[in-house]
Amino acid sequence: MTALRHALVTGGSSGIGKAVAQRLGKAGHTVSICGRDPEKLRSAAKELAELGVSVTTLSADVSDPQQVRELVGRAVEANGPIGILVNNAGRNGGGKTAELTDELWREVLGTNLDSVFYVTREVLSRGGIHDVEHGRIVNIASTAGKQGVLLAAPYSASKHGVVGFTKAVGKELAPQGIAMNAVCPGYVETPMATRVRRAYADAWETTEAEVLTAFEAKIPLGRYSTPDEVASLVEYLTTEGAASITAQALNVCGGLGNF
Ligand code: NAD
Repeated sequence: MTALRHALVTGGSSGIGKAVAQRLGKAGHTVSICGRDPEKLRSAAKELAELGVSVTTLSADVSDPQQVRELVGRAVEANGPIGILVNNAGRNGGGKTAELTDELWREVLGTNLDSVFYVTREVLSRGGIHDVEHGRIVNIASTAGKQGVLLAAPYSASKHGVVGFTKAVGKELAPQGIAMNAVCPGYVETPMATRVRRAYADAWETTEAEVLTAFEAKIPLGRYSTPDEVASLVEYLTTEGAASITAQALNVCGGLGNF
C-alpha cells in the first residue's frame, strides 16, 4: 500500500512523460501534467482518460521561471500540495560544435537543465512538498548525463548537469525526508527518438533506418527501451519501499551504459 499523493509531471503530453503520468495515475495518485502546447496536452489527456487515468493539464514553458512560478501555483490550487515531482520535459539538440549557435545552446540548456532547477526550487519553496509524507523528486536525465554523446555537446552537457544537480540536492533533502533521484534512459522509442535519428541521418548522409540499425547494434539488449519501462522505474522510486534510494542516477538502457 503506497501513500497517494499529487504528482506533477513536466512534459507529460508525450513519450516518457505521458507513460509516467499513466503509471502514476493507475497507481492512484492525482496527476497534473504540463507542456507548452495546449492542443497536445488536451489530446494526451483524452488518450489517458481512455486508459482510465484522469489528469489536470497546465500549459507552461518550464524554461521560463515566471511561467514555472504560475505553473506550480495553479497545480497546487487544482490538486493540493505536490508530493511527487517528475522533471521530465526536455529536448534533443546538437551538431558540430564549431557550428552551434548561441540560441541552440541556450535553448537546450534552458529546457533540460535550468527548468529542473526552476521547477524543483518552486516545488520546494511553494509547492507544499514539505507538508506531504514520502515526498519524491525524479529527474529524467539520460545516459548522455554520464558519458559524452557524439554531436550532442549541448544535450550531454545539460544532462550531466541534471545528474550533478540531483546528486547535490538529493543529499540536501535526505534529512528532510524527501528523496531525489535521476533516471537515465538510453535509447527510448518516443517522438524525440525519431527526431534524433533524423538529425543523425542528415549529419551522416544516410537513412534513418541505417541510423536505427547502428544504434540498436550498440545496445546489448538489441532494442530501444519503451517509455513504459522508464516509467516503471519512476513509479518504483515513488514507493515507500524506495525510501533509502536517494541522490542516485539509475540507468534504464538495455545495458548500453554500465556506469
Ligand atoms: P518527447 O519529445 O516525446 O517529449 C518531451 C516532452 O517535453 C513533450 O511533452 C514536450 O512538450 C515537453 N517539453 C519540451 N520542452 C518543454 C518546455 N520548455 N516546457 C514544457 N514542456 C516542454 O521526448 P521524450 O523522449 O519523451 O523525452 C522525455 C525526457 O526523456 C527528456 O528529458 C529527454 O531528454 C529524456 N530522454 C529521452 C530519451 C529518448 O531516447 N527518447 C533518452 C534519454 C533521455
